[in-house]
Amino acid sequence: MNDRADINGRDVSAEPGQAMDVDVVVIGGALVGGTLAAALGQAGMIVAVVDAADPRVVADASFDGRASAIALSSRRLLEGVGVWDLLGNTAAPMLDIRVADAGSHLFLHYRHEEVGDEPFGHMVENTRMRQALIQRMDALPSVTLVAPQRCLRLDRSREGVRAHLADGSVVRAPLAVAADGRSSPTRDGAGIDILTWRYDQIAIVCTVAHERPHNFVACEHFLPAGPFAILPLLGNRSSIVWTERAELAPTIMGLDDAGFSRELRQRFGDFLGKVEPVGPRWSYPLSWHLAETAVAERLALVGDAYHGMHPIAGQGLNMGLRDVAALAEVVTDSFRLGLDWGAPSVLDRYQRWRRFDNMLMLGLTDGLNRLFSNDIAPIKLARDLGLATVNRIPPLKRLFMRHAMGVVGELPRLMQGRPL
Ligand SMILES: Cc1cc2nc3c(=O)[nH]c(=O)nc-3n(C[C@H](O)[C@H](O)[C@H](O)COP(=O)(O)OP(=O)(O)OC[C@H]3O[C@@H](n4cnc5c(N)ncnc54)[C@H](O)[C@@H]3O)c2cc1C
Repeated sequence: MNDRADINGRDVSAEPGQAMDVDVVVIGGALVGGTLAAALGQAGMIVAVVDAADPRVVADASFDGRASAIALSSRRLLEGVGVWDLLGNTAAPMLDIRVADAGSHLFLHYRHEEVGDEPFGHMVENTRMRQALIQRMDALPSVTLVAPQRCLRLDRSREGVRAHLADGSVVRAPLAVAADGRSSPTRDGAGIDILTWRYDQIAIVCTVAHERPHNFVACEHFLPAGPFAILPLLGNRSSIVWTERAELAPTIMGLDDAGFSRELRQRFGDFLGKVEPVGPRWSYPLSWHLAETAVAERLALVGDAYHGMHPIAGQGLNMGLRDVAALAEVVTDSFRLGLDWGAPSVLDRYQRWRRFDNMLMLGLTDGLNRLFSNDIAPIKLARDLGLATVNRIPPLKRLFMRHAMGVVGELPRLMQGRPL
């Protein structure tokens, strides 16, 4: 989108068939790649972000129906890279989180006051966040968003990388970052295998309007087919993530409006009064994957290119943003010292920092989904007692609440609210 040449004495315009030299080339400029570009660009690095999608299309509300739960630590990162303010007043705070099993009177209720005065996080509509990221990238003189443009091939050597784009231009850099999503062509092209499986579940996503206010409480009900999440948006509206058995999903998606409302209300209940879906519905197949390595010669993987998890805990993007904050820190530390930021020692530091945390969350979300997506009586009893027990043991409950806020573990500077 940007039309810039000659930043810090270097030609950074990507004319068709020409070469462009940058400090970092980011392949994929969605929520994860866009945030990384904003972080590196703000630190003065010259960044090219290549994205296959048209920026005018991705910023349209019909492009992605999801709203993401952005944990407190992710909000701090977005504030630090100048994106949060651009969201305006569109983010809805999550003050409480209530988790319950269908048909049980036992529950777990997190109240933010029990761990401080900050909300657990905020619900942000994905298209709003993407718009804000495009605006931020455009405002940073050292970031060039090359979109719509596909990266066809990435050549890597000890000296650096060359990204070959569909229009014949080439971007050269000491480091490439793959932020190109679940099916990451860059990861595949580098020969990095993934461990993966598909869930026999689909997430149906829509927005509902309801009669009574949600009071900024996020609710997750466990139904036999999987979790049903009711996530607060501004006004008397909520975003729904309804996990359903894969074989039933096409029938539900194909219902007329009245039939869809009926099915939805059966699962939603009447605790917020009359409920009505508003706007379109979307469906997302669910899967799990982890790349065998997060780094290769002059290449780092971030976000869904690196890992993908069940949305049961709303953590996929948050984990991707943790990758961003950690990678931005190790890369800019080297850049400022005048060292090679694409060197194996820098990439190893990133991999060591992120591997365990990602594996833990991947294991936890998979385990929770298996534990809660069934109706087997002894398992149901055990998990209900588990919820009630956590609810009654304050130190344990506080630990879980701090996890939901994303403030546990070795946090990168940006996620602590400190400058990069
Ligand atoms: C139903 C559902 C609900 C969810 N809710 C939450 C939540 O509440 N909280 C949370 O933290 N996470 C949530 N997630 C997870 C979250 O949505 C993802 O983890 C996140 O969007 C991944 O972002 P990404 O930027 O890594 O990848 P993507 O969004 O997949 O972006 C990849 C980008 O790469 C580009 N690209 C691909 N190939 C090329 C190429 N060859 N050249 C150039 N560009 C290319 C694409 O155009 C795209 O823009 C949810 C997921 C689902 C399915």
